[in-house]
Amino acid sequence: MKIIHTIKQMRIWHEEERLKGKRIAFVPTMGYLHEGHLSLVQVAKQDNDSVVMSIFVNPLQFGPSEDYGAYPRDIKRDTQLAEEAGVAALFLPEVLEMYPYYPQLTTIEVQEVSEVLCGASRPGHFTGVTTIVAKLFNIVRPDTAYFGQKDYQQVRVIKQMVQDLNMPLEIISVPIKREKDGLAMSSRNTYLSEEERKEAICLSEALCICRDNHDKGEKNAENLIRYMVQRINKEPSAVIDYIEICDAETLKPLSYVQRQAVVALAVKIGRTRLIDNIIIGGRA
Ligand code: AMP
Repeated sequence: MKIIHTIKQMRIWHEEERLKGKRIAFVPTMGYLHEGHLSLVQVAKQDNDSVVMSIFVNPLQFGPSEDYGAYPRDIKRDTQLAEEAGVAALFLPEVLEMYPYYPQLTTIEVQEVSEVLCGASRPGHFTGVTTIVAKLFNIVRPDTAYFGQKDYQQVRVIKQMVQDLNMPLEIISVPIKREKDGLAMSSRNTYLSEEERKEAICLSEALCICRDNHDKGEKNAENLIRYMVQRINKEPSAVIDYIEICDAETLKPLSYVQRQAVVALAVKIGRTRLIDNIIIGGRA
């Protein structure tokens, strides 16, 4: 596996692969890798010749009171996991390499789909995401990029950016990897104490309750949400940031589930903010 630290080296590697006629896949991450990240690599390998993974904790997508400084980092372990997973090139730029001037003057903002859900509770977050992802796309120049459905809104926003700006690549969304008890894998799960880890199961359980009620015939969003709130409020450390049922495409809130919808939630367990989602009312 080639380890690359600079944009210049990344561009050279890209040219070499292109000359060999390789199809290049890209998996952008913030590191502290888990099976969710590695599942993106597995899917990427199926349809491509070479997989590039980036690890970059992007300061631009963290709010001033968020966990940028505390975000877990372990490059040595990540490098080993990426190599074992079959990553061809690991791009590990420093902040100064990506942002020689900070904050940079140009940003990318996607309207509407980035303003709801996490966009409403984390102002500026998606501008940080789309700006870094666009920069990484311009540096790595992949044929296809892979993102997790765990961050449903993120994939939706990125697909919109790619469509609106005619970026020459395809975006693929990969299903959520979960722990045995249902908790969605996340680098932030490492913040949880033993007790909080037990309580964190309430996110996926609430989503299952919602799906069961929906499958039994309940289509009223308010009712579906009420049962989820009841489940989450059983946990002493859980504080709901949002629970919403939205149109899977527009992310606009629904009163009744008559078509494919995303049930999305963000819950703080102690100091750790976790997100999860499921699709109901149609194919995932
Ligand atoms: P992150 O390092 O958290 O920014 O995540 C990097 C990529 O991995 C994003 O596309 C995430 O959606 C994806 N990802 C994170 N957790 C999971 C998971 N549990 N299952 C599938 N993909 C995931």
